[in-house]
Amino acid sequence: MFSQRIEGLRPSPIRAILDVIDRPGMISFAGGLPATDTLPQLSGVVPASTLQYGPTEGEPELRAAVSRQLRGLGVDAPPDRVMILSGSQQGIDLAAKLFVDPGTPTAVEYPTYLAALQVFRFYGARFVDLADPDSARTALAYVVPTFANPTGACASDAERDRLAARCLRDGTVLFEDDPYRDLVYDTCDRTPIAARMGGSSWIYQGSFSKTFAPGLRLGFIAASDDLFDRLVMVKQATDLHTSRLSQHIVLDAVTDPGWGARLDRLADFYRSRRDVFDDALTRHFGDLATWETPRGGLFFWLHLTRNVDTRGLLDAAIERGVAFMPGEEFSPDRPSIGTMRLNFSHADTDQTDRGLGILADLLRS
Ligand code: PMP
Repeated sequence: MFSQRIEGLRPSPIRAILDVIDRPGMISFAGGLPATDTLPQLSGVVPASTLQYGPTEGEPELRAAVSRQLRGLGVDAPPDRVMILSGSQQGIDLAAKLFVDPGTPTAVEYPTYLAALQVFRFYGARFVDLADPDSARTALAYVVPTFANPTGACASDAERDRLAARCLRDGTVLFEDDPYRDLVYDTCDRTPIAARMGGSSWIYQGSFSKTFAPGLRLGFIAASDDLFDRLVMVKQATDLHTSRLSQHIVLDAVTDPGWGARLDRLADFYRSRRDVFDDALTRHFGDLATWETPRGGLFFWLHLTRNVDTRGLLDAAIERGVAFMPGEEFSPDRPSIGTMRLNFSHADTDQTDRGLGILADLLRS
């Protein structure tokens, strides 16, 4: 089940010691801990003691808060099976380290998240199209079922059930990446696939990048019992633990009574950006492309009516001051020529109208 590199992985003896040195009265000559008195006073932000080294799994209060949220979604994730990540991008790296050797068959959606492909490729994954009914069993199935990047699509309950059943049947580890679930503008099925995995192996991760601040690099991962401890070991070997400053800033935010209202306001804000974008697309791209209005997330995925090389188009667009992502970047092979990903959350109404006008002009010419 696991990659060859995991065979040699052992828990660090320092980690076991670090767990006991916080006991009252303990004299420690063990870790390389700076004297707490020398740590900076970030007054009003965090107590100096939280700027000391911390546990690999993350701050207990934040793990508990994430656990409450996941259990509310039906995911079997008690606090001791939740780990805080240095961005959810790190979860992809940890899972790839745990499962992927050169040549390991790894199922992904075509198209899928570009930077996940980058990580899996780095460890030598052999990509398999999750939609290919004849595809062989794979070690891992990486999916973004809720408001996918790049397509914005949201899988139905039936599709979620089917994927869970398939993973259970084939002994494939489900790896559900869910950073967009709170950016929801219209109702749709969103119950995590990880909530349907019974006693089988699964990994579920989320992010505070879209709901709070990407620069803090804060995400989280939860996993079934058979995987969690190994993920912790891999995380420890990667970066010891996530920034405690970032964790405390996010902890304050998510335990604030106003957190739910903040998510609602965010969704309202992005819903109106999506609507503005959709209208502008209809005006400028009505005869140039087809698309489905995303019910959440941050992206429109366009199929151009003519098979234009969007990579070539990008060079011309950048010269005129507009950027987008050519669709072919999002598939490991068999690139989707004639597709493009357009983000609608960043540009304001005026920029959206001007930018789409320029792209449409370029396409017409
Ligand atoms: N997964 C997906 C599907 C994403 O779109 C992103 C961000 N673009 C990430 C993971 C990484 O997010 P972060 O590391 O900021 O949590």
